[in-house]
Amino acid sequence: MSLDRHYHKGLQLISHCPLCQSHYPPRETTVLDARDDAHLIYLHCNTCGSSIVALVALDERGVFSQGLLTDLSREEVMRFHKGAEVNPDDVIEMHKVLTN
Ligand SMILES: [Zn+2]
Repeated sequence: MSLDRHYHKGLQLISHCPLCQSHYPPRETTVLDARDDAHLIYLHCNTCGSSIVALVALDERGVFSQGLLTDLSREEVMRFHKGAEVNPDDVIEMHKVLTN
């Protein structure tokens, strides 16, 4: 199963800020990592200033998204990501823990 045709549905799940419910402007969305079954995305809310790192991925039940509030700026996330501090597998692991 490819994520491509589910990706926009997944994005819709995280299209609103979890704190203030504002709609994220598309240009504030940065894809940090993309592979066949998972996209790691950074979102910044201009309304309340919060940022989340979100994973849109597929599991056996279909597409899901998991957001993590972060204090990191986009640049910091990119840097940490390159250092493998944040990767899709970690977030998938967390998703499994939270849903079990
Ligand atoms: Zn917000």
